[in-house]
Amino acid sequence: MFDLIAFDADDTLWHNEDLYRDARAQFDALIAPYGPPSGVEDIIHATEMANLPFFGFGVNSFILSLIEAAVAITGGRVEGAAIGRLIEVAKGMISADIRLMDEVEDTLAALAADYPLLLITKGDLLHQQDKVARSGLGRYFSGVEVVSDKTAATYADILRRRGVAPARFLMVGNSLRSDIVPVAELGGQAVYVPIENTWVYDHVPVPDGLPGVVHQVTRLGEVVGLVRGNQ
Ligand SMILES: [Mg+2]
Repeated sequence: MFDLIAFDADDTLWHNEDLYRDARAQFDALIAPYGPPSGVEDIIHATEMANLPFFGFGVNSFILSLIEAAVAITGGRVEGAAIGRLIEVAKGMISADIRLMDEVEDTLAALAADYPLLLITKGDLLHQQDKVARSGLGRYFSGVEVVSDKTAATYADILRRRGVAPARFLMVGNSLRSDIVPVAELGGQAVYVPIENTWVYDHVPVPDGLPGVVHQVTRLGEVVGLVRGNQ
């Protein structure tokens, strides 16, 4: 049934969003001396969205947005030491230990025995490649694609280069916006594996009438049974 099965990485194979939440808590502590924060969440989100076309996704972009937000929130009074601390937060995120999600190894080992697996992730090239290497999961994948965004055009390009028809492609991930909807738009199949704390950006409605098929599971391990049921 499938010629290629692909996995998202962040918050699908390993924990990621909790690092961002920890960083946000450190940001709040850094700006607290400048007065009671108001609308911080909205300012940070708006800054991140405005910066995507400039810096893309990933830790580097996130920290630049926090620095910009710190300047805005404090009316330019934020001190160099606080900016320096945010740079250290970024380095801590980038070098943090990889913590695999539950059932990752068993799921990848089972599927890799029968299918070529591809890892498709967006973010900083150096950081994503380093995480793949440190995760020890690289051996399950026949390829790794680090892309600047995950749109239907991104997936169409990946499938065209690999000679895979969308209908014979399965994508597994935690982001409706990046992993599920664009693949279903192309006519592929997608498995949504929700996590508890998903970035608000990743939550989008799945439109009715897409040409592809959208599945949902509660645990990554269920993907194996789903794939075998589709054989
Ligand atoms: Mg993800």
